[in-house]
Amino acid sequence: MIEILDRTQLPRARAAGALVADILQTLRTRCEVGTNLLDVDRWARDMITEAGAQSCYVDYAPSFGRGPFGHHICTSVNDAVLHGLPHDRTLADGDLLSLDLAVSLGGLVADSAISFVVGDAASAESVALIGATERALRAGIAAARPGARIGDISHAIGTVLGEAGYPVNTEFGGHGVGSTMHQDPHVANSGRPGRGYRLRPGLLLALEPWAMADTAELVTDADGWTLRSATGCRTAHSEHTIAITEDGAEVLTAPAAVRA
Ligand code: MG
Ligand code: MG
Repeated sequence: MIEILDRTQLPRARAAGALVADILQTLRTRCEVGTNLLDVDRWARDMITEAGAQSCYVDYAPSFGRGPFGHHICTSVNDAVLHGLPHDRTLADGDLLSLDLAVSLGGLVADSAISFVVGDAASAESVALIGATERALRAGIAAARPGARIGDISHAIGTVLGEAGYPVNTEFGGHGVGSTMHQDPHVANSGRPGRGYRLRPGLLLALEPWAMADTAELVTDADGWTLRSATGCRTAHSEHTIAITEDGAEVLTAPAAVRA
């Protein structure tokens, strides 16, 4: 199903996006050397509850996971890239942490992910991976406007990741968003321009480039959820929810400093 929002729904989508952005930025400042991933999950839960929102993850039980997820945020560290199940692990200096959060507020969902290095010991590889996924995300957003097609976004994202030297996995990618977290259309992180669904105002999309340093292959962790690079290499993930508008794309999950 592809959901197109009407004008009265867009303000609610903005509110959901702002909440997700604010929670992620708060968690980013709180995550330091010695923080436990279960603390991050608890902090996320408390902020979601306080805002009167609902986590999209707690009851999430798709075919590929050992559901329900049972936690409020995805915490993926180093070689873990997607669906990282919070567990009893303490963050160390130099860990590359990806946080992925989706909440429903006022009946609409926003979905965003950030990656950053904990502490001061950021390796050049970590910085490069994060930078590439952020640039790919910006390129995808720039390609998203009325009349463009999903393939234009996929091509823009895949070109940046490829030029950065990262193999691209097209199994997991972006998606439509609306009253539920995962909707059509699928937005692969590589593709041919001019192909696929034509974008129109009112469409919400989550764009989410992610990268692994030296492989396109994933393995599932023993926890049944966490997806890791098959080689153990480092990984990164950047995601925004955007709304297609008459003029282009509005980033709903931009940090407050950018929204202002
Ligand atoms: Mg997400
Ligand atoms: Mg998503």
